[in-house]
Amino acid sequence: MRALRLESWKSEPVLTEVPTPVPGPGEVLVQVGAAGACHSDLHLMHDFEPGTLPWGPPFTLGHENAGWVHAVGPGVAGLEPGQPVAVVGAWGCGRCARCLAGLETYCEDPAAAPAPGGGGGLGLDGGMADFLLVPAARQLVPLPDGFSPVLAAPLTDAGLTPYHAVRRSLGKLTPTSTAVVVGAGGLGHLAVQILRALTAAHIIAVDPKETARQLAKTSGADLLLAPGPDLVDEVRAATRGHGADVVLDFVGSDSSLAAAAAVTRPLGDLTIVGIAGGSLPVSFFGLAYEASVQTTYWGNRSELVELLDLAARGLLTPEISTFPLEKGPQVYAGLAAGDITGRAVVVPSAEYTP
Ligand code: NAD
Ligand code: ZN
Repeated sequence: MRALRLESWKSEPVLTEVPTPVPGPGEVLVQVGAAGACHSDLHLMHDFEPGTLPWGPPFTLGHENAGWVHAVGPGVAGLEPGQPVAVVGAWGCGRCARCLAGLETYCEDPAAAPAPGGGGGLGLDGGMADFLLVPAARQLVPLPDGFSPVLAAPLTDAGLTPYHAVRRSLGKLTPTSTAVVVGAGGLGHLAVQILRALTAAHIIAVDPKETARQLAKTSGADLLLAPGPDLVDEVRAATRGHGADVVLDFVGSDSSLAAAAAVTRPLGDLTIVGIAGGSLPVSFFGLAYEASVQTTYWGNRSELVELLDLAARGLLTPEISTFPLEKGPQVYAGLAAGDITGRAVVVPSAEYTP
């Protein structure tokens, strides 16, 4: 089968032929209908080096996947070939308290997981291929009726990650509150839509790209701003001088974090989702009083079920552009150049073939 693989750190992915996996006991082979191209894959290609993470190349990229059940291994019940499914991306040990609660991102026994802290496309072979081997049936969520893998794939990360982050701050997102979304790309435009669907907060979106700001606007943002020297004053002016109750930073650079911290009001939440490698000095007078700074990593299985329900009812409309698997390298080049608006999704198969 075809697979887009990261062969080593600090390299571009290559399209190659690999053997089609055969599902063993408990495993499921998924025919991939869609695999989203996440900015995290650019960090994998360009920023990381041996020792940064507990796993490494070679592996097939693609951690944002959906498709159809193709074959099940011995002992798997309740899944039929051809059934459309979304793939839960973080693969834990499946036995610890957190995995049993569906929180496999924070598995307590990573040494017993298929890849410690990883999953398909993150240390193990992912979905930028004709088929994806999923280690357990619990990591699949059946799609709502009529819901396509192309729509579902971006929800498993570009949707799930902001959904998890927004849910963590829901108590602060009252009708009089303001949420700031920094970076309105794949994750950020869905953060705006999720805020709109779940809350009545005022929403400010920040992005240097005009196309991204326009997408944030159609996604439901009330005010669009560009990063730069005026940003902090502009957010203060829009919030009667108070600053924002919740700031979600989908960039995570030194400058975005500095701006995010400067606009977070007392008792507010600053959530760092972007992994651009910046840092934020934390000190008594460096942040608003009682502001919380938190990172979030991906989301839970139950949150993905909720998110699919939200989307199936038409309350989320991911902005998606699709490409054949052969175009995978160009898709990542386009993402790195800032040419993608919303989410780019690679489609190895447009329909299920038994
Ligand atoms: P993307 O490339 O689709 O979008 C990034 C957006 O940020 C672009 O629109 C870009 O113009 C904008 N931007 C760049 N610099 C900015 C600045 N200084 N201020 C405001 N906006 C700026 O990327 P994505 O796939 O949405 O991923 C966003 C980040 O989230 C990446 O760092 C990615 O690795 C990370 N990520 C984290 C998790 C997690 O679990 N924490 C999960 C997925 C992705
Ligand atoms: Zn991702």
